[in-house]
Amino acid sequence: MSITNRTDAVNAVAAVAPSAPAPAAPADVQCYGEDVFNADAMREYLPQATCAKLLATIERGEALDPAIAGDVAHAMKEWAIARGATSYTHWFQPLTGNTAEKHDSFLELKHGHAILSFSGKNLIVGEPDASSFPSGGLRSTFEARGYTAWDPTSPAFIKRHGNGATLCIPTAFCSYTGEALDRKTPLLRSIQALSGATKRLMKCFGYADERVTVTLGPEQEYFLIDKHFYLLRPDLLQTGRTLFGAPPAKHQQLEDHYFGTIKMRVLNFMNEVEQELWKLGIPAKTRHNEVAPAQFELAPIFEELNLACDHNMLVMEVLRQTADRYGFVCLLHEKPFAGVNGSGKHNNWSVNYGKLNLLNPGSDPHQNAIFLTVLAAIIEAIDLHADLLRSAVTGVGNDHRLGANEAPPAVISIYLGDQLADVINQLEKGEAKSSRHSGTLRIGVDTLPPLPQDATDRNRTSPFAFTGNKFEFRAPGSSQSCSGANTILNTIVADAFDRMAATIGKFGKKDFHAALQKHLQKVVKAHKRIIFNGDGYTDNWLAEAKRRGLPNFKTTMDALKVLTKPESVTLFEKYNVYRRRELESRYEVFMEDYHRKVRIEGKVALEIAETMIRPALSAEYGSLVSEIAEAGASGVRPGVKSLKREAELLGRGLDDLAEKCALLRTALGGKHEEILKAMADLRAVVDTLECEIDDSRWPLPKYREMLFVY
Ligand code: ADP
Ligand code: MG
Repeated sequence: MSITNRTDAVNAVAAVAPSAPAPAAPADVQCYGEDVFNADAMREYLPQATCAKLLATIERGEALDPAIAGDVAHAMKEWAIARGATSYTHWFQPLTGNTAEKHDSFLELKHGHAILSFSGKNLIVGEPDASSFPSGGLRSTFEARGYTAWDPTSPAFIKRHGNGATLCIPTAFCSYTGEALDRKTPLLRSIQALSGATKRLMKCFGYADERVTVTLGPEQEYFLIDKHFYLLRPDLLQTGRTLFGAPPAKHQQLEDHYFGTIKMRVLNFMNEVEQELWKLGIPAKTRHNEVAPAQFELAPIFEELNLACDHNMLVMEVLRQTADRYGFVCLLHEKPFAGVNGSGKHNNWSVNYGKLNLLNPGSDPHQNAIFLTVLAAIIEAIDLHADLLRSAVTGVGNDHRLGANEAPPAVISIYLGDQLADVINQLEKGEAKSSRHSGTLRIGVDTLPPLPQDATDRNRTSPFAFTGNKFEFRAPGSSQSCSGANTILNTIVADAFDRMAATIGKFGKKDFHAALQKHLQKVVKAHKRIIFNGDGYTDNWLAEAKRRGLPNFKTTMDALKVLTKPESVTLFEKYNVYRRRELESRYEVFMEDYHRKVRIEGKVALEIAETMIRPALSAEYGSLVSEIAEAGASGVRPGVKSLKREAELLGRGLDDLAEKCALLRTALGGKHEEILKAMADLRAVVDTLECEIDDSRWPLPKYREMLFVY
């Protein structure tokens, strides 16, 4: 049945909603990692010595011995073929923000016979024609080759697709001259930078060399709507968000969706998503209804940062594909619906030294000294580079979210929680009394009071919140790759750790703790303006933040400029995370992406207004006018006045609509601000009309349908 109107769509949803496709097999946890070339698979398929070398690279970060590539490639191929694969691909993350894959089969012809082969060289490098990826001038089309390079620290996996499977090899993507054309390369460089700085800092505390790991647990928010509605909304189809739509009477005011009972159809969907993720070795853990109607969240158990970033890209893909099987569409846009919550990707981040989580305020006073030192350095990093952190979460979608319903403002600040804020206050004044012991707070091994262990207090309004044993950066958008934000976070913290180490490394052993305390006091004093424990959603805070001199970049355009300012270039070059040209290219690519998307939105809005809204409106206006004429001819008086008033209302609507369309058409030839303004003006007219005209004539599925009928 082809569905061409809203009523049919609602009926169709009612017919499918309770059901779900029969699962291929019952859910279980045995499948965990079965599609990943993990340590178990390596042990089974690789010679022992090769396996040990590869695991040393993966588990201990040792340099890869290129001599083992041939063996590893052969083992991967055998393993993949046993699981039905006939092709492989280097899987990478170009600056589009998506993942990319170009498949090659294992097929080779030997004396006219087909054999399956996969060499070490095929594993280590690929040469996709990169000329059509955005590069911001890093790679002109005449030297179009880009190289993909195997990242052994993120395991290969297979993607199944009905009648086959493909071996996917996570790779970095760079140009002939070694410039990063992707999101993974700078991330890996930033992990290296933070790792080095953390070691230098820990040395000041007399710690022996240990492996540093950065960890990430990204919480993924998303909307699900029924596909029948989606197909009737050109705006969702083309831009990922609704460009029109009046708020329904009931949306999220009653707060009855958050953590509510999950509908059966959604639960089946979620279960299947988890199964798919578990097969890929992605530890999906938490699922629940979110604040807005039809909004949900998935959170995995945290993992090493590089792996977690790759895994989140796969999470988004699995969500989209599974949704399709269930007749849903998964919307990952940051603000698909105006007036209700947008979707974010809370970035839970921490740094570990060996087994020690440096953001864990332990009960051991020695560990506390380290914790407070790390905390002070992070406070400094965020205060010095709040603008860079903001620039890491730019994008046309996130611009609509930041500072809107239940999303952190564009001003970056740190939330510590009352207890920890109190400790920091005491530290700053240097006359601290702990809750348990009295006396002066010193970061001496003997005198430091136990730090609060339970960080139960939560503040959902803060962009950068301490949550017990990690920081939660809440500004990243739901559709964004985790790599960008963490590349910047790692680099600014590495810089602060190094500054800290340079100072405290000079303190004598004897009064180390007294000197440390004095220094931390100084750091906290200098940077405490970044700490804010109040409600970040209020206008008061925005005014206060301004008084404190904190940057407030409301739009992508403003925030992106920070990337290429001289201080940023110096910082990123110092840590070899981005070269100047790489920063400039990103600035260009992200700007262009923003401009193109705004222009597409403007065109779609105009098309919908002129080809869907105007005809509906003029049809109703026309029938009202004929009704008035008929009533006049019939001699019946009552009612005519109301009919006339209604016709006049709609007539004015028609005129307004025509005027706003003309303005948008003109704006489309100009700057993005003008387009956005003209779109907002047009939307105001259309959303008012939606509440005035005959419901059966309105062509676009309404918010009350998309958000509640599923
Ligand atoms: P909430 O919604 O209450 O913030 P969730 O359970 O949804 O909590 O998400 C918390 C996320 O933080 C999870 O992905 C979890 O694995 C992650 N996490 C916990 N500890 C750490 C850590 N040390 N480093 C990074 N992420 C962590
Ligand atoms: Mg959560």
